Amino acid sequence: MIKVCKFGGTSMANAEALKKVKNIIFSDESRKYIVVSAPGKRDKNDIKITDTLYSCYEELIQTGKCDKYFSLIRDRFVDLVSELGVKLDIESILDQTEKEIIENKSKDFTASRGEYLSARVISEYLGFEFVDSAEMVRFDSEGKLNDDYTDDKVKTRLKKVDRAVIPGFYGKDFEGKIKTFSRGGSDITGSIIARGVKADLYENWTDVSGFLVCDPRIVPDSQTIKQISYQELRELSYMGASVLHAEAIFPVKKDKIPINIKNTFKPEDAGTMIVPSEQYIAEGNNVITGIAGKKNFTVLSIEKSMMNSEVGFIRRVLSVIEHYGICVEHVPSGIDTLSVVLASNQLKDGVLSDIVNEIRENVSPDYIHVIENISLIATVGHGMARRSGTAAKIFSALANEGINIKMIDQGSSELNIIIGVANSDYEKCIGAIYKTFYGNK
Ligand code: ASP
Repeated sequence: MIKVCKFGGTSMANAEALKKVKNIIFSDESRKYIVVSAPGKRDKNDIKITDTLYSCYEELIQTGKCDKYFSLIRDRFVDLVSELGVKLDIESILDQTEKEIIENKSKDFTASRGEYLSARVISEYLGFEFVDSAEMVRFDSEGKLNDDYTDDKVKTRLKKVDRAVIPGFYGKDFEGKIKTFSRGGSDITGSIIARGVKADLYENWTDVSGFLVCDPRIVPDSQTIKQISYQELRELSYMGASVLHAEAIFPVKKDKIPINIKNTFKPEDAGTMIVPSEQYIAEGNNVITGIAGKKNFTVLSIEKSMMNSEVGFIRRVLSVIEHYGICVEHVPSGIDTLSVVLASNQLKDGVLSDIVNEIRENVSPDYIHVIENISLIATVGHGMARRSGTAAKIFSALANEGINIKMIDQGSSELNIIIGVANSDYEKCIGAIYKTFYGNK
């Protein structure tokens, strides 16, 4: 049995948290490969090491030096090493790191040093080998992960290493320079390592006990999701659920390795299991797995009699929007109607009226109507395909609350029902859907 464990910033934040991390790792011999983030916030008002490193880079670019911000990094790592009682010449490592930051003058290199230093300290603390991600993780010339190369490197590099600590968040670009993933990217590193070593499980240790059915700011006592499929998680992450980096499921998905979201501060909690869709469906779960949403969309509702018999109608509408370089979120359609949903923040400086005029010229619709300040709410669950009446249940819940539905879109996979409501109904709508499916549990 092989487990890859990724520990997030809060788990790395101070000696107290790190002692918990050590207990977790030593309580299970199969926890072999440990991927770490940079130390995060110790309390609400603290600053993450990665953010301080970005400030350090700004200081360097503006003044040619970075002593002001690097001294904050230095203090945190020196304190951490002394509190943990680790025998490591951290001062020399920090001197060398500062020198390299100044020489490299690279934003990504600077930001990556949080994970690098964190992994150096933890490897010493645990007595595991330090294996640098720079040796394994590669990006291609377009900045995308070079999957095959990376997978091969992870396999060969870790083949003979029984237990290791690996920094998350970065690798090398095609020219050999350090490059980071987007923020929160250590989750992706964990997934890459899990795939490379053919792990049985990828444990992602954080500071919450898994995904909640919906946002706790809206439903404070929301239940935790026990099991969710890769596909359901994709839908929910896209709509704003943010415990795990949205791209972290891709590497493990290929080899069907499950991910367990666990809480470092409550290790006894089962957390959320993210599993391949086939397994999830076979086991039969709740009808609804999660509810997530986003505010501020604009819907262009286009009507034209017999539009479905007009060859190229949808393409001509969409090509107008493409021409303005704008992404389309959803395109629900009926026989004589087509709605195009766009994120409102893309529609600055009069672009919206230009688009509407151009659509009028291009497809001569009977009617085109713009609805602004729309929220989209996704109700997600494979269970919908098994059971009839899910949509009816959602609609009657909203009707009972007096919420007007402005748009409906059900994906063909029967995994997801998306509804559009006024921004002012957003919270009420999520609350009502939650109550309908989870109210009595
Ligand atoms: N330290 C990086 C960040 O704050 C990456 C990570 O923690 O996953 O975004």
